[in-house]
Amino acid sequence: MNQDNRRYRKQELFNGLGQAGQARLRQAGVLVAGCGALGGTIASLLVRAGIGRLRVVDRDFLELSNLGRQLLYTEADLKTGLPKAVLAERRLREMNSEVEVEGVVADLNPDNVIELMSGVDLVLDGLDNQETRYLINDAAVSLGLPWIYIGVIGSSGNVMTIIPGETNCLRCLFPEPAPPGVLPTCDTTGIIGPTPNVAASIGVSEAMKILSGAQERLNPGLFTFELWDNSYQAIPLESGPREDCPCCQEKRFEFLEGRDRSTTEIMCGIDAVQVNPPKEFRLDLNQLIQRLDQDSIMSSNDYLVRFEAEDFQFSVFPDGRVIIHGTADPGQARALYDRYVGF
Ligand SMILES: [Zn+2]
Repeated sequence: MNQDNRRYRKQELFNGLGQAGQARLRQAGVLVAGCGALGGTIASLLVRAGIGRLRVVDRDFLELSNLGRQLLYTEADLKTGLPKAVLAERRLREMNSEVEVEGVVADLNPDNVIELMSGVDLVLDGLDNQETRYLINDAAVSLGLPWIYIGVIGSSGNVMTIIPGETNCLRCLFPEPAPPGVLPTCDTTGIIGPTPNVAASIGVSEAMKILSGAQERLNPGLFTFELWDNSYQAIPLESGPREDCPCCQEKRFEFLEGRDRSTTEIMCGIDAVQVNPPKEFRLDLNQLIQRLDQDSIMSSNDYLVRFEAEDFQFSVFPDGRVIIHGTADPGQARALYDRYVGF
């Protein structure tokens, strides 16, 4: 396809990139995992920057509460009832028809992650749950593919660039994911629009450095910011991977092999799905109750917490099992679990 040189003129004028860097971006392929507030902005910036190929993977449908932050979507999109990945592909192609854009409606899992990561040079994290991040970390390390971890909540965010074999991987830093119900999620703690957009911009800057061949410019540690309290920090990390890292050193890809994955069971006849946690553990129901909107709690005792969110009822047990009434779709149940119980 013919390229109009004016499109990237200002980017090429930028010293760090130049025409050579721009040409390298044009050759590159990227996977963006998740296409909400974070992934949508990441994808927009990459497409406008003239990346060669972009694949976005997302499992969710667009909801009204997304429009407060997710810059990619409009009220008209909401009326279509289409999945975000389909809407994203359409919008991104409108932004830049020179880019090969592919939207994939899927829940990233051990069965599809390697295929979805094939043919790309880099993965960016636009996810809303830890479990899939650990899966991406396993897959990226096993393939030797760089990836950029990005986590946001409230007004704070973390960004870390991971080059397998050279830098810390996610498990060097956080060896195990926190058990469900412990970490706040954006649906229990809330989030403001600037947070994912700042984090996405930092992540895409790192991506442009990698893809244009300016690796020496990468942030060598964890970049963390808190917009409401005005703190911005680049935390240096020990150089090189942690010696006893189960993933990048011992090459045990537990998440990729599916051993630590949560499972779902459709409960026949009652329009409900049970989500089983990835490992045996005790869930602290009191901690969960404190994180929930108090008006949403229907009942609670030592054995069970029941609460409502959106049009669904959740029954949460201390062993981490959650029965979600109002859906028979395992993908939707898993998304709701991540959103409200959190893993
Ligand atoms: Zn590691």
